[in-house]
Amino acid sequence: MIDIVNELRALIGAAAVLDAAELATRSAGAFRADNLKAAALARPQSTAEVSAVLRWCHAHAVSVVTQGGLTGLVHGADAEPGEVILSLENMRAIEAIDPVQRTATVQAGVTLQTLQEAADDYALAFPLDLGARGSATLGGMAATNAGGNRVIRYGMTRDMILGLEVVLADGTIVSSLNALIKNNTGYDLKQLFIGSEGTLGVITRLVLRLREKPLTTNMAFVGVDGFDNVAKLLKHMDRKLGGTLSAFEVMWQDFYALMSTPPAGKTPPLPQHYPFYVLVESQGADRALDDQRFNGALESAYAAGIAVDAAVAQSEADCQGFWALRDSVERVMRTGAPIIFDISLPIAEMENYTRELKSALPTTIGPDHRLFVFGHLGDGNLHVVVTVPPGDYAAARPKVEALVYGGLAAFRGSVSAEHGIGLEKKPWLSISRNAAELELMKTIKGLLDGSNILNPRKVI
Ligand code: ZN
Repeated sequence: MIDIVNELRALIGAAAVLDAAELATRSAGAFRADNLKAAALARPQSTAEVSAVLRWCHAHAVSVVTQGGLTGLVHGADAEPGEVILSLENMRAIEAIDPVQRTATVQAGVTLQTLQEAADDYALAFPLDLGARGSATLGGMAATNAGGNRVIRYGMTRDMILGLEVVLADGTIVSSLNALIKNNTGYDLKQLFIGSEGTLGVITRLVLRLREKPLTTNMAFVGVDGFDNVAKLLKHMDRKLGGTLSAFEVMWQDFYALMSTPPAGKTPPLPQHYPFYVLVESQGADRALDDQRFNGALESAYAAGIAVDAAVAQSEADCQGFWALRDSVERVMRTGAPIIFDISLPIAEMENYTRELKSALPTTIGPDHRLFVFGHLGDGNLHVVVTVPPGDYAAARPKVEALVYGGLAAFRGSVSAEHGIGLEKKPWLSISRNAAELELMKTIKGLLDGSNILNPRKVI
């Protein structure tokens, strides 16, 4: 029997490796009640140390699960007792910010919020944003191609990555730290690793694209009386705001009511009786002009009957309060054990889809449940949460999955818009990917990790 802990300690130092008992005191992550399990948890401090760990694991056929901030929701970073967890938590340096090229070079363990704050010092922005910003790491976000609240304007993590440094399963370091926006010199290798969920290599460093920091933010909560008007409001605001629309978040009534009911902090911005609520955000550079354009767009939406009510943020604190109302998703847990979904479908199909889901749930799992729908409507991405009594969870979960995912097949929706596949969605992958696509994925996995030590069992 090999002594994994002591072998790894000999490679990267005693303090850098936790044994099975030590790592078992750490939580397995967000929305999780269990703790980590694995043979060892290695915390290398450099790419060379990551390489040494992988070389050793490859030689001894020990599986490696790479973990970031553990904010994922699809069991994509779960490890088993005989495996090694590789944590990049000791690689958290921002190595350089170049204000002329508008890039940041960072180690994979840097959190999203740390980079956002560092970019701010240069009047720049890393514009991707999500609720878990304080814990989610940039390496993990790249490995899962995370989305979030401003995809409508700036794209997903993939769209902000210029270069990557990756360590392959056998310890080979592939440094591809490109900092150019345009570089059409053969295969774009970084794309293989972005969204691969740790199955093809370990991301150790990244070159990220920064943007000029927006100088103004305008926000409103808009009450809408029907889904047709939600879709119309998206086109209306996007057209009227001249490229400055930066978020368009939709909440179905039940979700808004839950999020705005005390103890939610402040008075809700709008009464709770509208069927739909939209959080609209626009970011610009000129206070007077932006106020005029934003308020004008809302007024014309109201005049056209697209919007029936609106609360406009008057201060930075109002903006933060509006976002808190959207982001405090953990409140769903007060209503039961949550089954969380992240799906993409055409906007025109959303109303029918959610109505059918709502009517099918009682006959499938009985009346004792709650359904919450919200999401990034501008991206065609909905989050669906069904909460059930904790005792019903195990029996209800597969039935609800079959309903939610089965309903997507008719129009080739996606079983994962931004959360990834992990273990959780693997059985449903064929709804969104055809046989030839799956075969090519397996070929690529075999080529890069023929001995299947990197995050085995996940994705495919
Ligand atoms: Zn989301």
